[in-house]
Amino acid sequence: MPQRINTRDDPWIICPACHGDGEHVNPNIDAGGISGDDFAQDPDFAEAYFSGVYNQACRVCDQTGKIRQSKTVELEEAAEDRELAMHEDGIYEPGVRDVRFTY
Ligand SMILES: [Zn+2]
Repeated sequence: MPQRINTRDDPWIICPACHGDGEHVNPNIDAGGISGDDFAQDPDFAEAYFSGVYNQACRVCDQTGKIRQSKTVELEEAAEDRELAMHEDGIYEPGVRDVRFTY
């Protein structure tokens, strides 16, 4: 018998990177933060953004839209590692804690 993960101990949850969609906006586009002003100043960009032009397949959940709850720990640790490394290098990258950067 193949070993099964006990789903009660480690249930499926909606993927925090893509919110269950299986794809998300490329973090290189918006991880630093996009404001209403950015969209107001560039309506073409806003239209493209919301049309999904910048979307990419979610690698956190492999496009399934769900992950095991235990994986959120991995994601958090990876985000913390990235942040720590940036502080050590004396640089700051906006969005470094974005879980979409994990892979
Ligand atoms: Zn996902």
